[in-house]
Amino acid sequence: MMERALAGFLLAGAIAFVARTVRALSLGGAITALLVGTAAAIAGWTWATVLIVFFVTSSALSHFKRATREARIGGIVEKGNERDAVQVLANGGVFAAGALLAAATGASVWAAAALGALAAATADTWATEVGTVAGGSPRSIISFKPLPAGTSGGVTVSGTLASVAGAAFIAGLGYLIGVGSAAAAVFIGGVLGSLADSLMGGTVQERRWCDGCLEATERRTHYCGRATRVVGGVPGARNDFVNVVCTLVGAGVAGALTR
Ligand SMILES: [Zn+2]
Repeated sequence: MMERALAGFLLAGAIAFVARTVRALSLGGAITALLVGTAAAIAGWTWATVLIVFFVTSSALSHFKRATREARIGGIVEKGNERDAVQVLANGGVFAAGALLAAATGASVWAAAALGALAAATADTWATEVGTVAGGSPRSIISFKPLPAGTSGGVTVSGTLASVAGAAFIAGLGYLIGVGSAAAAVFIGGVLGSLADSLMGGTVQERRWCDGCLEATERRTHYCGRATRVVGGVPGARNDFVNVVCTLVGAGVAGALTR
């Protein structure tokens, strides 16, 4: 186990280094990815493989047509392209904890929970990346009114299809490499986790406004340099918090549907 931990540490370090070099991760994000990756390797090579496939596909999707996405939603979304420590932990923390519990106990419920968390994170990421590039006019998941692209709680047909595909991808991957046999539970967990993300994004997530540009945004400081103010949602309920709830719902649903 010590050897696997060391090998996992080195492999995760190499991947985090490359991701940092191509600006997919901030420095804090790279260090957090190193820890999450090492934890996955300690749980087992199959878990590490699932995590690497998740990370590489999500990063590749984020990279694809980045300029188009930037132009459409750059002023609205809270953070840039480099994923920071909190984002990495929000997307991978529940997965890593579940994988370690699965390895320690051998219980299939933890394996399903770990994969459910990752399926939810994947569904949410694919929905955002595909939805913003494919276009279509987003509508509020709550009121069905049209929303500017990039607004939390906004859904499109292409984004919704991408989220279902993302959940199916992780469910299938877990099944094929043998870490989770409860593929249906993982798939449902992923879809419902992503749905919870959109619902919370349209309700409790903090909404901000720039009085200079008269634009909605999730940023505390707008791209114009002006400080923004809260105009809706629960102050302090930011995107990372919503993402953690998304992966917890994914884990909880997948675990609950597994015997
Ligand atoms: Zn502004």
